[in-house]
Amino acid sequence: MEDKKRHIAILGSTGSIGTQALEVLNQHPDIFELEVLTAHSNAELLIKQALKYQPNAVVISDESRYREVNDALFDAGIKVYAGEEALTQVVEMESIDMVLTALVGYAGLKPTLAAIRAGKNIALANKETLVVAGDLVTKMAQEKGVNVFPVDSEHSAIFQCLVGEFHNPIEKIYLTASGGPFRGKTRDELMQVTRAQALKHPNWVMGAKITIDSASLMNKGLEVIEAKWLFNLKNEQIDVIVHPQSIIHSIVQFTDGSMKAQMGLPDMKLPIQFALGYPQRLKSDFERFNFANYSSFTFEQPDKETFRNLQLAFDALEKGGNAACVLNAANEVAVDAFLHDKIGFLAMSDLIEHCLQKVAYIERPEYEDYVQTDRETREMAKAYLN
Ligand code: NDP
Ligand code: MG
Repeated sequence: MEDKKRHIAILGSTGSIGTQALEVLNQHPDIFELEVLTAHSNAELLIKQALKYQPNAVVISDESRYREVNDALFDAGIKVYAGEEALTQVVEMESIDMVLTALVGYAGLKPTLAAIRAGKNIALANKETLVVAGDLVTKMAQEKGVNVFPVDSEHSAIFQCLVGEFHNPIEKIYLTASGGPFRGKTRDELMQVTRAQALKHPNWVMGAKITIDSASLMNKGLEVIEAKWLFNLKNEQIDVIVHPQSIIHSIVQFTDGSMKAQMGLPDMKLPIQFALGYPQRLKSDFERFNFANYSSFTFEQPDKETFRNLQLAFDALEKGGNAACVLNAANEVAVDAFLHDKIGFLAMSDLIEHCLQKVAYIERPEYEDYVQTDRETREMAKAYLN
């Protein structure tokens, strides 16, 4: 009998998106088959997941953990690979139909390109990949006839609004933002905020990096750039609106003025499931929205002067070329430094701005230029910190 199941690889299975994706797969064993799980260094959880979900193969990027993982999975007949290169090789496995990129940061670029080159559809959570090299990724996807399905809730919302409208041009999109834990604060107040406060997001529980990005509004900036590439938009077609309740996940405005929004409780399992199951809407028992709990929805303009990261992202988008790659690399260094109490909250923007001004501009970067820009920016950012 022909196997109609969708065979999935999850890159970054031990993270916030990865673990939720496994819950989704577990609910639909008739639809999905798990092929690959990967982690960076969390060997314990990777082993636990592999024994429970029985993939064909796992990858642990940190080679020093290889023996531990291999010893634990050998008897179960699960193949174990280690190292960064293994990530780009494992996505080529013939049995894989779709790769969920749920790893964090620039590290996602190479394996995502490898998966596309191998003709695999992508469920993309790893927004940094599109921020760094959206032009290369979308071009290669087009050449290979591969679909890139958004997992990010805002982009999933837009995608859901576009179903049935693919031939109708978009006039504008509004990405909604919760505003994060520091919405309404002044720059003086932001001088004092701590790592612990920044890690407490009002509506979503996520990995550390994206939680800090949400507090600084860099996450929304990255999402603006992500949206440009996913939906082939001009810069001026993308707007951001703060909606603190996080129920409307984004809005599309069409050329007749009609606006479509997608709503639901904030739960990443829904956009994950929509990306993996597209075009089907699979049943779920996720909690339903209850009007009794919300008497009003509110909207406000984002404060780009206080939250300068959002303005810097718009600037990088406007500049084009390798500017967004610089923005991303500088931001990764800045967030890491903030998480290690090396710099304050507002200093993250200073560091990013410094790199955007200093790293050499390349108008039409090739892959190697992006690799070089990423490296150069990290070096410059680290030198700035010392
Ligand atoms: P987490 O930090 O929770 O998880 C990251 C995953 O990637 C882990 O499995 C981690 O492995 C792995 N990983 C980390 N660094 C590397 C590396 N250098 N090489 C290979 N693998 C690595 O992140 P999230 O799940 O929160 O986010 C993942 C992506 O999804 C991000 O790009 C984020 O912006 C995006 N996203 C997340 C949302 C969310 O709700 N969390 C919402 C929308 C988008 P290990 O555990 O071993 O460290
Ligand atoms: Mg989002």
